[in-house]
Amino acid sequence: MTTETSSPTLRIVRCPTCGGDSVFGPQNTWRPFCSERCRMLDLGAWASESFRVEAHPEPDESDELAGQTLPDSASSDLN
Ligand SMILES: [Zn+2]
Repeated sequence: MTTETSSPTLRIVRCPTCGGDSVFGPQNTWRPFCSERCRMLDLGAWASESFRVEAHPEPDESDELAGQTLPDSASSDLN
């Protein structure tokens, strides 16, 4: 019998969002972030930033939607 009371691969990393301690392991679903909030904050910031800068079109799904909603609203917006 081995005494494995604490997790063998427990690593603490710095949360990219808040800079706090974050458990980097299977028990932390939000790794490398410390919490769901930090993860969402980071993803949100990243997404809005890249959308602003590059205006990168989304894959297939929005392609379909764009084709359906393209007509009038777009041209009237330009005029
Ligand atoms: Zn955090």
